[in-house]
Amino acid sequence: MRQKRAKTYRKLMSLYCMSFGFREPYQVLVDSEICRIATESRIDLSKQLSTVLQGVTKPMITQCCIHELYLQGKSQQSAVDLAKAFERRKCNHREAIPGDDCLASVVGDSNRHRYVVATQSQPLRAKLRLIPGVPIIHINRSVMILEPPSEETLRVKQQKEQEALGPAAAELVKLPQQPSDPPRKKKGPKGPNPLSMKKKVTRPVSVRVPRKSDSTAPPSASDLSIGEKRKREENDEQLTATRKRKRRRKHGGGPTSSVVTTA
Ligand SMILES: [Zn+2]
Repeated sequence: MRQKRAKTYRKLMSLYCMSFGFREPYQVLVDSEICRIATESRIDLSKQLSTVLQGVTKPMITQCCIHELYLQGKSQQSAVDLAKAFERRKCNHREAIPGDDCLASVVGDSNRHRYVVATQSQPLRAKLRLIPGVPIIHINRSVMILEPPSEETLRVKQQKEQEALGPAAAELVKLPQQPSDPPRKKKGPKGPNPLSMKKKVTRPVSVRVPRKSDSTAPPSASDLSIGEKRKREENDEQLTATRKRKRRRKHGGGPTSSVVTTA
């Protein structure tokens, strides 16, 4: 058996064990057809069942299923011999009924005895898929296949998990939708880094200089009103500041410029 398939089956069997109480040795109900195919294809049925279910198995057969093999005559003697080696599961059918019906009645509507069913019958398999927690096995081209869990099995499994958690835990399960930690600040660009931005150069406000024609004397500081004087001083300060900044840039040079020169 391939590793991937073995892993899938192991997971599947742990699902049946955890959610439906399956335990080793797994009781496997086999039908007449699978016994026939196993002998025809020379498959060691017991061994294969243990390989697929990955545990100790107890193959079982009902009287009705053995009866089906009897009906097929002497050609199926080896299959009968194989079936007879298995443990007999009492089905209490006085008159033998078709194997499918017999197995369906033994499994019941809840599979409370936790049977694994190995059957080649498509209709029976379809019927068993509607019962939660029935591992189903069939043989396809002399390869034994364990079916994936049915929808009903998965539904009940989920339901049981919810119940096991209880109402309080169910609330907790909902919680991850609304994490307790405060909402994270949005990451991403908000705009340029204010530290890397060039400061807005405020252009000096043009100071109205009185024309010569206005007065004969050249305009002196004393002529300007106090308000204008202050303005001028401010402008001067700003100008010198910007000049200094520019100078610093020229001399210092950014990290990028130094890279350029070295390159
Ligand atoms: Zn029966």
